[in-house]
Amino acid sequence: MSAATDGEDVSGFDFSGIEFSQECPICGGPATEVTPADFDGKVITCSSCEPNGFEVAGGYLEKLKALPQEDRNRVLRKAREFAAPGKRPAINSRTF
Ligand SMILES: [Zn+2]
Repeated sequence: MSAATDGEDVSGFDFSGIEFSQECPICGGPATEVTPADFDGKVITCSSCEPNGFEVAGGYLEKLKALPQEDRNRVLRKAREFAAPGKRPAINSRTF
């Protein structure tokens, strides 16, 4: 029923997937998971780290949580550098 978006247009912020609270894998603060359906991984919004959300590729959430705080910040920073303008930072093998 919901309008499926082919691209990942963050500006519209139209996600039709699940949405629930969880701990931010970067800062450990309160965050919201807004993973769209059919997405392999997770999309998490955290008001402290990335209010528009960042993506964590499948399997990388645990890897991320295992890192020391400063390395998590580094990974997110790197993901921001790689992200195309208007796109969410994506945490994956490239950012580790
Ligand atoms: Zn955070």
